[in-house]
Parts: sequence; C-alpha cells; structure tokens
Amino acid sequence: MSNYQIATDCLHAGYRPGNGEPRNFPIVQSTTFRYETSEEMGKLFDLEASGYFYTRLQNPTNDTVAAKIAALEGGSAAMLLSSGQAANFYAIFNIAGCGDHVISSTSIYGGTFNLFAVTMKRMGIEFTFVDPECSEEELNAAFRPNTKAVFGETIANPALTILDIEKFAKAAHAHGVPLIMDNTFATPVNCRPFEWGCDIVTHSTTKYMDGHALTVGGAIVDSGKFDWNAHADKFPGLTTPDESYHGVTYTERFGLEGAFITKATVQLMRDLGSIPSPNNCFLLNIGLETLPLRMKKHCENAQAVAEYLQGHEKIAWVQYAGLPGDKYHERAQKYLPNGTCGVVIFGVKGGRAAAEKFMAGLKLASIATHVADAKTCVLHPASSTHRQMTDEELAAAGVSPDLVRFSVGIEDAKDLIADLEQALAAV
Ligand SMILES: *Cc1c(COP(=O)(O)O)cnc(C)c1O
Repeated sequence: MSNYQIATDCLHAGYRPGNGEPRNFPIVQSTTFRYETSEEMGKLFDLEASGYFYTRLQNPTNDTVAAKIAALEGGSAAMLLSSGQAANFYAIFNIAGCGDHVISSTSIYGGTFNLFAVTMKRMGIEFTFVDPECSEEELNAAFRPNTKAVFGETIANPALTILDIEKFAKAAHAHGVPLIMDNTFATPVNCRPFEWGCDIVTHSTTKYMDGHALTVGGAIVDSGKFDWNAHADKFPGLTTPDESYHGVTYTERFGLEGAFITKATVQLMRDLGSIPSPNNCFLLNIGLETLPLRMKKHCENAQAVAEYLQGHEKIAWVQYAGLPGDKYHERAQKYLPNGTCGVVIFGVKGGRAAAEKFMAGLKLASIATHVADAKTCVLHPASSTHRQMTDEELAAAGVSPDLVRFSVGIEDAKDLIADLEQALAAV
C-alpha cells in the first residue's frame, strides 16, 4: 500500500513512468496482443502466467487506472467495468447464484434496486431489503443459511441516507459473509469504507470520479481482508476448482488479496464482457487527478446551497448532512468528517407541481439524468430515475414524491444561489 496522502495518490498511484517513458499512461487502443509462440499464450489462458492477450480480459490502460482506484480505497485489487450497474451486478454475482440470498439496505439507487428486485431475482437470487435504521436484532433476523452478502450505499442516491457501516459490517461478519458497499457519492476522498469493516467497494465512476459527465463506468475494489476460506462452504466458486481453467482454485492460486477480483475478471468478464474502453479509462484517470480538489469545492458549495434553502419560505424541507440539525449529521461526523458530497435534496412547498415549475425556471442548473458532476444539475427522481417504483417502494427508498435532487457543481456558489433565488421567486 502507498504511504502518500490521497491527493498525491490521485495523481501518481498505479503508474510510475520509467526513464524516457510517457508521463501520462498511453491509451493502449488495441483489442489484442501478439505472442511469439502458442505455448506462451496457452500459459496465459491457463492463468499460469500473467500478461495481456485480449482486451475483454485485461488492458494495460484499464489496469493502471484500476490500480489507482485500488490505492485510493486502500484495497488489494480492483477492476474497471463499463458502468456502475455492471460493477454492482458483478460484485454480487461473483459470490451469489441461483438459489442464494442477499440482504440489501432499502435506501439505494433506483437502478440498483431494479437490478436486484427484478433482474437478479429472475436469475434466482433472492433479496431481502432492510431499513438501514433497523435494529441489530432486525438485521440479524434477515440472514438465512444461503445468504451470501450484505449490500448498502455509503451515502444513498438520492435519499442521502448515511449507512451505519459498523452495524452492517458486524452483522455480515457474524454470519460469515462480506459487506459490499457502493461508495459512489462519498468517493474515497471523503470515506474509505474498508477502514470501517466493509469488505468490497463498488463505484459508478460516471459520477464524481469522472466528474465531467464524459464517460459511463464502474469499478469494484476488494479489501483483500475477507477470509473466504474460513467460510469455504458458502463460497465454493472461490474455494473449489474452476473447471473452466483446468481446476484452478482462486483462493489458493491468488490468495485472499487477489481471489475475488481475479475470479470476477477471468470468469465473469470473460463470459459477460462489460469492459470499459481504454479511451474511457484514460478520461476517467484525468478526472481522478483532480478528485480531492473538486470534492472539497462540491462540499463547500453544497453547504452554502443547503443553508440558503433551509431559510427559504418556499422550501418545505432540506436534507444535507452538513446541516447541524440533519438526521445524519452526527453519523457523517464519524464516517465522513471532511464532508459528504455535493448533493442536496429538498421539497418545494406545493409538492410535485411546484417542484416542476421551480426546475423549469432554473437557468444555470440543468435538468439532467445525471448527478455528481462539475456542472450543477437537478432532477425529480419520482418522475424519472425512480418512476418504476411503487409509492411504498419509493417511501422505503427515502424518495418522497416532492423530492428534488440538486447536485451542486463547482461553479461560484453566488451564481448558484442567485439562480435558485430567481427560480423560487417565480414559483
Ligand atoms: C449512478 C449510480 C449507479 C449506476 O451507475 P452507472 O454508471 O450509471 O451504471 C450505481 N450506484 C449509484 C450510487 C449511482 O449513483
């Protein structure tokens, strides 16, 4: 692991050029790699040697960026995927299959909820959704003999629920399964879930990591700390031979540090192929270089916006953990002492109709199905990202029908507040 501070790792981790080599890691825009003999290539196919042969499995550009993200999270290994959706799917499907069960917080991103409750359910994986504020007893009662993982978001999109990481990690470990967390909104700059007992982290790199609304992408990072062998009967995919690689056992060959990511790469990526392009990984890397600077500014601006909205007569409610009275303020001080994220949620008095009028009046902030971008954007989840959900599911996910998700960018806060002021005046 690196001894540098995170701002330094954002620039340097994953790639150190040798003498005369390019300062930026090049875009290796090649699907394939040449070998002198078939025998050499055969060793790669048998996982007996490491090397590149086809970009669906591995690519040098992608790998340097993955190594940087692993360093930022303090993990042992990482892989990049073509989207955050793919990252969450692979992270769970790597250890759970037909007939298995997974516990998830109810307060998660709408796309992830659909993935779990609809698509993965059709694959035979059953999910139990638990209120993130449930008691330890309630959480423990959700486990079954076939439970394979527990899932939650550090800061939920869009409800901004902050997960009690230690409570979830304790319950997961007591039942011999890993805690998987989507750390998209916090980013490793503001929270490193591994330091609190989380075992595997996922990201939609589309958000703050990219930061400029350029590329859709995802990442999975393994802490390398979960002992698959201690619960070998639950995780046969990692602890028993894989016939598709002449009987390789991942935990034996790659150790606890490498087993999870190696299996997800050589098995799931080989078969399902959700790879990001090297060009997109190059762009993601540029975003990562300035992540700490941007996160600081996002948090400062969001704090200013939240404080302005809180005092406004046309605003029904505001939620932002930086506000002293916020229900997650205390928990944020513990897990995210340097700030949470740039997203503020609120309700406009007059409900859905007033929210729509207000949004149409914004001139600087754009209405976009995007969040966590350098440019301020705004969304009404109940009529867009979460529109497949029933009212009960919406309530469980912490999304009220009047909720406006305001993703504060890095513009000058004065201009953002002036924009809010004029849009609210017209409501
Ligand atoms: C956007 C998002 C996703 C999905 O990521 P894509 O890159 O859009 O596929 C997953 N989790 C969270 C928390 C998100 O915000």
